[in-house]
Amino acid sequence: MTKGELKYEGKAKKVYATDNPETYIVEYKDDATAFNAQKRGTIANKGIVNNAVTSRLFTYLASFDVPTHFIEQLSEREQLVKAVKIIPIEVIVRNKTAGSFAKRYGVEEGIVLTPTVLEWCYKSDALGDPPLNDVTAIALGLASPDELETMMDLAMDINDGLITFFANRGLELIDFKIEFGKLPSGEIILADEISPDTCRLWDTASGERMDKDRFRRDLGNVEGAYQEVFKRVMGDANA
Ligand code: UDP
Repeated sequence: MTKGELKYEGKAKKVYATDNPETYIVEYKDDATAFNAQKRGTIANKGIVNNAVTSRLFTYLASFDVPTHFIEQLSEREQLVKAVKIIPIEVIVRNKTAGSFAKRYGVEEGIVLTPTVLEWCYKSDALGDPPLNDVTAIALGLASPDELETMMDLAMDINDGLITFFANRGLELIDFKIEFGKLPSGEIILADEISPDTCRLWDTASGERMDKDRFRRDLGNVEGAYQEVFKRVMGDANA
């Protein structure tokens, strides 16, 4: 597989064309940003962890029929994916209060949310990813009503699968962000990544934060937490 021109460089990944117009190569970087890129740094070997964790989780999700862009892991930092057009909506799923949700509504972190909360945000760094509701997303032409329904159903299935996966590894899934892409056929599939950059994971036994909050909040041992998640996710616990 030949790595072609750089199509896009984001905060954590680079996307390259290949000799097949239906596939891209994604390369995971160690660069880390938070608070809409106001805080910048690197987390040693984060790219290796996030590539491995995403590859494992997308393979796991595909095993119960969640369509994803993942084809195969090519190297420590690279994976081959289906070329999609990213839908510019960040889909956030919350099982417990944390982060901007806790701040916005003035509640403690760690309160169980019933029912599970699903939020849409407009994917725009320039605008700071502002929240969207269904009609706003439709009126702005970001997605159709059917597409929103598909994304909502898939996000809930993904949440159910991930809760179990992480629970079997001593981790509690507090919340996460996912992105979907559209194939030329119009089919909507899971794209981007699922990693400690995009999930909040708390150690079940100690409640310790095992995700990017260690970087955002200067909690220390950022690399150690990413390595621990890597070890647990790649271990052979039952899915
Ligand atoms: N998240 C993300 N990218 C973003 C915003 C949020 O991956 O641009 C993830 C974040 O890691 C957390 C969840 O989405 O797992 C909910 O984040 P929240 O809205 O609480 O925002 P934050 O506190 O990260 O600003």
